[in-house]
Amino acid sequence: MGKRLDGKTIVITGASSGIGRSTALEFARTSPKNLRLILTARRIDTLKEVAADIKKEVGEGVKVLPFKLDVSQPDEVRSFVGNLPEEWRNIDVLVNNAGLVKGVAKAPEIEEADVNVMFATNVTGLINMTQAVLAIFKKRPEGGAGDIINIGSIAGREPYQGGSIYCATKAAVRSFTDALRKELVATRIRVIEIDPGQVETEFSVVRFYGDKSKADAVYAGCEPLTPDDIAEVIVFTAGRRENVIVADTLIFPNHQA
Ligand code: NDP
Repeated sequence: MGKRLDGKTIVITGASSGIGRSTALEFARTSPKNLRLILTARRIDTLKEVAADIKKEVGEGVKVLPFKLDVSQPDEVRSFVGNLPEEWRNIDVLVNNAGLVKGVAKAPEIEEADVNVMFATNVTGLINMTQAVLAIFKKRPEGGAGDIINIGSIAGREPYQGGSIYCATKAAVRSFTDALRKELVATRIRVIEIDPGQVETEFSVVRFYGDKSKADAVYAGCEPLTPDDIAEVIVFTAGRRENVIVADTLIFPNHQA
């Protein structure tokens, strides 16, 4: 698999923690030859730490560019590719992973600001990033190969009480991904969705506005997946030969079934 990913340029959104961070490390471990990893998120210092962790683990073979990017800001996304150094612009794979949930509340009580940030990040941000990267694929002389890998959620398939807005954002990701795949059928662009179940990351800390005790309570009495479990699937999917699309994956801990 390594050879298929050698020399690729891969963008990961939300690479400062959790699934995005693990995915960056897993790509680096799998294909340390001339890989270029563009790690994006809002916390640039944390991205630099991830870059240092990669260097420590696999050495200098993988080039890593930490890049501050808030996907909820359309202007930042629009100027993202143009602001990359020239040699980093030929993107092959986009992992649309940045996402969050804010609050647990029944629909009538949800704060408007929380609704807006979830849609701006999980949906509009993902769509804007996809459009920016598709424009690069389409300019390619060899017919525009590339991968768009969208991280949805089991919540997009099975809505739960208290999570109506988050679930709606992930259902939107699912519809967008399915429609885009149909639009791009028989091209060299693969449009992929990976839907995790419960994974222990900073996700729930963000959900409870930094309250770690509430976040930990989410995992009480169950064994969530690790971010590495998801990263392995993302990298496996990107590493298939070009005619193979692992189009739609649901991955969750056994206790959640
Ligand atoms: P984390 O909170 O650990 O990671 C979320 C990442 O998204 C962080 O790197 C964060 O970086 C980034 N992010 C958030 N908002 C923005 C923004 N506006 N612009 C750019 N980056 C942003 O959670 P996970 O790793 O668990 O989440 C990754 C994805 O997996 C999300 O899409 C989530 O919905 C999905 N998921 C998670 C599940 C779970 O149980 N953990 C289950 C199912 C799906 P920063 O703060 O530095 O910007």
